[in-house]
Amino acid sequence: MSATDAILALDQGTTSSRAIVFDAHSRPVAVSQEEFPQHYPGDGRVEHAPEDLWASSLRVARDAARQARAAGLRIVALGLTNQRETTLVWDRATGEPIHPAIVWQDRRTADECARLRDLGHEASVTARTGLVLDPYFSATKVAWILDHVPDARRRAERGELAFGTVDSWLLWRLTGARVHATDATNAARTLLFDIHRQDWDDSLLALFRVPRPMLGEVRDCADDFGVADPQWLGEAIPIRGVAGDQHAAMIGQACFREGTVKATYGTGCFALLHTGTRPVPSRNRLLTTPAYRLEGRTHYALEGAIFVAGAAIQWLRDGLGIIDTAAESEALAAAAPADHGVHLVPAFTGLGAPYWDADARGVVHGITRSTGRPALARAALESVAFQTHDLIAAMGRDTGHPPRELRIDGGMVVNDLFASLLADLAGVTVRRPVVSETTALGAAYLAGLHRGIWSSSETLAGQWREDREWRPRLAAVERDRALEGWHDAVRRTLSDHGR
Ligand code: ADP
Repeated sequence: MSATDAILALDQGTTSSRAIVFDAHSRPVAVSQEEFPQHYPGDGRVEHAPEDLWASSLRVARDAARQARAAGLRIVALGLTNQRETTLVWDRATGEPIHPAIVWQDRRTADECARLRDLGHEASVTARTGLVLDPYFSATKVAWILDHVPDARRRAERGELAFGTVDSWLLWRLTGARVHATDATNAARTLLFDIHRQDWDDSLLALFRVPRPMLGEVRDCADDFGVADPQWLGEAIPIRGVAGDQHAAMIGQACFREGTVKATYGTGCFALLHTGTRPVPSRNRLLTTPAYRLEGRTHYALEGAIFVAGAAIQWLRDGLGIIDTAAESEALAAAAPADHGVHLVPAFTGLGAPYWDADARGVVHGITRSTGRPALARAALESVAFQTHDLIAAMGRDTGHPPRELRIDGGMVVNDLFASLLADLAGVTVRRPVVSETTALGAAYLAGLHRGIWSSSETLAGQWREDREWRPRLAAVERDRALEGWHDAVRRTLSDHGR
């Protein structure tokens, strides 16, 4: 390893593509980002143009690589991380997609999932995949494309078409159609992958009607994924790391030990608890998923999702108009008395884990004549902390060891008041790292591990630097009282089948 060695991390997200170059001390030295269009063709449908995903990724990677080279650095490997579950099908001969990418948020296959649930398939699917039968995951999206594009199913069976999540699609393009592969974390979001055997599963392929010849090879997260063709980035760059975004964030947060948790607060929030080398089934409607796979060894996690986190702050800004910027929520909420008595449950699109009630709708509860903007802002920040409490309580019930510490990242965590509310209401120590770009950092770590820039996950764990820490200060009785109020408000949002 030389002092000028650097890693290019490419983070292909839901609303933007981002490239960051990290030096050998894991400091970000070049950044480039580009948004791309979202398409909503009606009926809960969300699509991305495959060419937008590719072209925006290529532009930001080129731009970041150029900045890094101008600073005297040499890019020795590329790491890739991506929005998960989003589904593409393309023609192996021409490299042309046969349909727009169907995005993870897309609900068009809800009826098909309900049909399979009614036939009694959910328990065996969950046992193999760690997931639930929901349109969110890839399998029913692939089948939908094969059922709706003329001749697609027959061509897929003959091996003429390839299926891939966004990582596979970008790998295919980057390597000049030489590599059709994915990593264990992305494969595990398809509903087609047995997380215990770490292989595609023929009975799942039959159930979801996905022909096996469409699938790529599943590799470790730090592995040889081929070489980016010199025409793209000016020189041949080995691709050595791949992981889904939440898994990459876990690695970027150095959550390598059993019992460690990371929570990423963007529009929504995803929390993952490392459960060691043993997959833990959930009795509390969390997902069981590979955290990462290194040197053939799979480490597992329990995952919970909150649909509305930063989106609650967006609602204060765009829906209520009581703040002009998300950052203003902090000062406004600080002006509210701690005993303001208002609970906001932001079940705008239903509630995620551990409630999973798609028909729940939000409430603001406990308003009095003295309630004003500050209390609403504070209730919005508290709602994200309360939802986190419920997630980590479910994790504690599933593992028998309630997490005591949370490593946080994402756009919301610049809000210090939110972090302190989180520590108080979730009852855990909250730690914020110096490098907040944990997703890209995780992809860089994976590629750097394989290239020998960093020798082991222990070395990486030693690089994690804390920016700030919050310990819970609220007395247990006060916290219990607050939680009682929250759960009372949650009950008022649940639909008949969620109760
Ligand atoms: P995503 O990756 O989902 O687009 P980001 O990680 O960029 O999200 O975070 C953006 C979210 O963070 C927005 O929902 C925004 O409301 C919220 N946010 C940004 N700054 C603050 C702040 N200072 N306080 C609270 N929320 C914030």
